[in-house]
Amino acid sequence: MPNVTVYSTEGGCQYCRLTKGYLSRLGGVPFTEVDVGRDKNAAEEMVNLSGQYGVPVTVVDGEVIVGFDVKRFRELFETGEAPDIYDMIVIGGGPAGLTAAMYASRKMLSVLVLTENIGGQALESWAIENYMGFRLVTGGGTDAEV
Ligand SMILES: Cc1cc2nc3c(=O)[nH]c(=O)nc-3n(C[C@H](O)[C@H](O)[C@H](O)COP(=O)(O)OP(=O)(O)OC[C@H]3O[C@@H](n4cnc5c(N)ncnc54)[C@H](O)[C@@H]3O)c2cc1C
Repeated sequence: MPNVTVYSTEGGCQYCRLTKGYLSRLGGVPFTEVDVGRDKNAAEEMVNLSGQYGVPVTVVDGEVIVGFDVKRFRELFETGEAPDIYDMIVIGGGPAGLTAAMYASRKMLSVLVLTENIGGQALESWAIENYMGFRLVTGGGTDAEV
């Protein structure tokens, strides 16, 4: 089992919460939490280890990881095998399903999408003129560049 320490702060640090949530979700990875907002010696230790002042900093068997580096966490902790149990199953790959799946995934939930296609009705659409921020985007019904 790897030796994992998370230097973080309580309160407004979103990436601290994401890091601890990610490790907790993995379940099998116990970690020691150090609140550098309260412990000045620990804060100094963190700065010496990482060469910077930002939190979170995670130390995995001596490797220093600055920030919520999910790519590195996945390399270290995930096998790449599909889980037996998902946090969420989305049925349908239209705009609603894909948006729900993407945002759940961004919150580190494991998501399975069951669908007949990716795109839903937008696959039939030639032009979508009410996609905010764009004059016009094409759907799946054309290859035309606009
Ligand atoms: C030709 C056309 C043009 C359009 N143009 C516009 C536009 O310009 N602007 C706009 O706002 N809207 C437009 N719409 C409407 C817009 O595409 C829909 O409102 C939108 O796609 C609805 O999204 P949804 O995810 O709720 O459902 P859908 O897009 O209908 O997606 C449903 C998904 O569920 C899957 N599914 C269904 N049943 C099952 C099952 N039993 N098992 C597995 N998967 C299943 C489908 O394959 C699909 O992937 C257009 C629609 C069409 C057809």
